[in-house]
Amino acid sequence: MLCKICKSKGKRTKAVIYLRHHRLALCKEHFVEWFEKQVQKTVKQFKMFSRKEKVAVAVSGGKDSLSLWLALHRLGYETYGIHISLGIEGWNYSEKSLEVCRKFSERIGRPLIVFNLKEEFGYTIEEIAKGAGRRDVCSVCGTFKRYLMNRIAKEHGFKVLATGHNLDDESALLLSNTMRWEIGYLGRQYPVLPEEGGFVRKVKPFCFLTEKETVSYAILNRIEYMETGCPNAKEATSRVYKQALALLEHKMPGTKLRFYKEFLKRARPIFEKELKEQLELNECEVCGMPTTAPVCSVCRTLERLKNAEGGEN
Ligand code: SF4
Ligand code: ZN
Ligand code: ZN
Repeated sequence: MLCKICKSKGKRTKAVIYLRHHRLALCKEHFVEWFEKQVQKTVKQFKMFSRKEKVAVAVSGGKDSLSLWLALHRLGYETYGIHISLGIEGWNYSEKSLEVCRKFSERIGRPLIVFNLKEEFGYTIEEIAKGAGRRDVCSVCGTFKRYLMNRIAKEHGFKVLATGHNLDDESALLLSNTMRWEIGYLGRQYPVLPEEGGFVRKVKPFCFLTEKETVSYAILNRIEYMETGCPNAKEATSRVYKQALALLEHKMPGTKLRFYKEFLKRARPIFEKELKEQLELNECEVCGMPTTAPVCSVCRTLERLKNAEGGEN
């Protein structure tokens, strides 16, 4: 297959990718150009951030987050990476992830802010989950990561935090929220969540790009990313929704993109109206971050752990 853009210019270049739902075959150069243009378009369409703002990019070491950092950097935004080192020892996961992020930050010459859980809190994420009596590390980890990303971004003076969620993630989340009719979540699922109530603005510039596209961007740009996932990752239910959507996409190309775009345009405004009054948020008495209780759940968990340790001694 030949690159469509090269062909229109009278050149015959072999395509490296065929974007079935766009009916577009592109060579390396034109795919990278197309990809970055899509990112720019999304940033503008949802007024995610301007060139005058510093942008914090949440980086795990995976393909999506590093691709996002590269794309935003190339588009001329002032980017900074934030990485949370969770202390997961299995498969040397945390150590390797940090190394991958460090290497990448050096490659593009942009600063990386690292938060080491064990050094800062005295516990790894697995110790925290165990101490909290939770067998499912991931739900505790998710809470801590969301909390920390917001806190680190705020402490470093960022107003905006970008994450690498792609179209596969967003459409799977949408399908899962729809299957359970989670009105609140449906009302809040959007590519940009405004800065309010102690939260920084959260943006998803990859929300219209598929996983296949983000992996291709990473590979074509020789990004060294973590290919092995976290040892704690189990068969997440989101995988099942992704598989269901992949089947629909295979039979009807463009389904995922249509499903998500039409939701944003037609359905979400209805759910948004249904949202009840925003919960009253206070500042946590310990850390000052937004919470509905006097002390936030992260501080409560850490306190419980310290008390339990005190009891043991
Ligand atoms: Fe955290 Fe679970 Fe993700 Fe591992 S798989 S990083 S424990 S949320
Ligand atoms: Zn081309
Ligand atoms: Zn707190």
